[in-house]
Amino acid sequence: MPAVTANTRLRLRVKATAETIVRGGHPWVFADSLRDQNREGQTGELAVIYDRNDKFLAVGLFDADSPIRVRILHAGKPQTIDAAWWQARLSQTRARRAGLFDAQTTGYRLIHGESDGWPGLVLDRYDTTLALKLYTAAWLPRMDETLALIKAQIPSERIVLRLSRNLQAAAAKDFQQHDGQILFGAPPEGAVIFCENGVRFEADVIRGQKTGFFLDQRENRREVETLAAGRRVLNAFSFSGGFSVYAARGGAKSVTDLDISAHALESAKRNFALNRNFPAVAACRQETVQADAFDWIEKAPAKFDLIVLDPPSLAKRASESEGAVRAYERLNSLGINLLARDGVLVAGSCSAHVPAAEFFDAVRRAAMKSGRKFSELKTMRQPPDHPAGFKEAEYLKVIYLKFTT
Ligand code: SAH
Repeated sequence: MPAVTANTRLRLRVKATAETIVRGGHPWVFADSLRDQNREGQTGELAVIYDRNDKFLAVGLFDADSPIRVRILHAGKPQTIDAAWWQARLSQTRARRAGLFDAQTTGYRLIHGESDGWPGLVLDRYDTTLALKLYTAAWLPRMDETLALIKAQIPSERIVLRLSRNLQAAAAKDFQQHDGQILFGAPPEGAVIFCENGVRFEADVIRGQKTGFFLDQRENRREVETLAAGRRVLNAFSFSGGFSVYAARGGAKSVTDLDISAHALESAKRNFALNRNFPAVAACRQETVQADAFDWIEKAPAKFDLIVLDPPSLAKRASESEGAVRAYERLNSLGINLLARDGVLVAGSCSAHVPAAEFFDAVRRAAMKSGRKFSELKTMRQPPDHPAGFKEAEYLKVIYLKFTT
């Protein structure tokens, strides 16, 4: 595949509605919004979009194989995208996180895709390891310059490449790059250990889901810690047990990690053990259950005082959104049945295709149908290192309900 240089540029025109959307700051131009194109484009090229008066509208990254054909880097006044521009963009992205984390938190998101001005690119920090995850092939031909840029501004011991599933074949064939590849530094010896609010966790940055950990739930884990004293906690869809370790540190009597994946539960056990230096964690009983959470919760043998329900996305595409809302209602009804008196339900959704209001209403409906008395403690959205700059980027929402009867 010929190298994409910083100098090649494609010229595009888009339909009137797309023009308005891009002017409004939306970062995506879909293939069916294109009106004309001066030649066939190569993935990773810069595409300059002109408006109907032939004036500069925006510039973005071209992806020949994605329905999202251009991901906007800059809209507004004409702008040259050169090395200095990229350096400035990374500085701005880092500045946005200034003061967010102290030495007690060494795991967080440094770059959150479109909403940080880096469409389709995520960079997570796990202590001295960086995980770079790509969601568009447009970054593949730009890997050398992107890596140099990151290395120049963000010191690290190693950088690991993670590729979304749909890029893996093309990355291997055209760029000899694969998911889990070490781009820089030595491979980690085992899992990478990092800190979050003083809690220690392992992350499998090479093979784990996302980039190895669900960094986006940090604020909810902290919240759960404050609610957990003396409680029997069920952490359903626990993954590596993040919520449970916080609950234990907050004084939970017991924590039950429930996940369908044996691998995730092994990690949950190790994460728990990593924090036995906290007396409250050492005093808490941890149990792991490998089962389908929907089945298990329906038949569970005992009640819980605090239940976290944080399932994977239940709507992978827009057409599944209605079914997902019903599934959330059903799942939370089952959870509420399992809650003891004065119990707290922490219900999460990470489906971008289910709007927050619809999810919250589904959980409230489940609560009302239970016939029990309840109050709403709070709702939460994405943390500041996972900003949402446009509607499709708003995926995470969590609602807290307390049942007094
Ligand atoms: N709450 C976690 C993240 C959850 S990710 C955290 O804060 O880290 C979703 C998890 O649900 C994954 O670990 C996956 O293995 C698990 N999962 C998916 N389907 C499941 C099912 N039907 N029953 C139980 N667990 C399931």
